Amino acid sequence: MAEKTLFQKIMDREIPGDIIHEDEVCIAIRDINPQAPTHALVIPRKPIPSLDALTEEDEPLVGHLFLVAKEIAASEGLSNGYRAVFNTGPHGQQTVDHIHLHVIGGRQMSWPPG
Ligand code: 5GP
Repeated sequence: MAEKTLFQKIMDREIPGDIIHEDEVCIAIRDINPQAPTHALVIPRKPIPSLDALTEEDEPLVGHLFLVAKEIAASEGLSNGYRAVFNTGPHGQQTVDHIHLHVIGGRQMSWPPG
């Protein structure tokens, strides 16, 4: 069996995580190294390595992740906006090979991103 990802271990309660949302499709946790007052990660239970590995079968799953991101933004009071992003691959600076949607807000963002 493939080695569990860090996020799979958090889902399975093998290592601690600040879980702020959980349903049958995904969980959301607070990032351990937040880049803004709110920084959550929405992570599907299915261990898809990255956006690049998505298939058509995953289309509803991805939609669900964005709806959960929106719910988190609302519950965190991010009424002035926020950023929702999948870092992908080395140039995207992805560091955990289990797809996750960053939800970042609570301060003014800049563009272009670093
Ligand atoms: P990536 O760099 O792959 O887009 O995002 C991975 C995120 O996971 C980073 O923002 C990093 O701070 C976060 N992270 C890494 N290890 C842990 C951990 O053990 N717990 C939590 N909650 N977040 C983590």
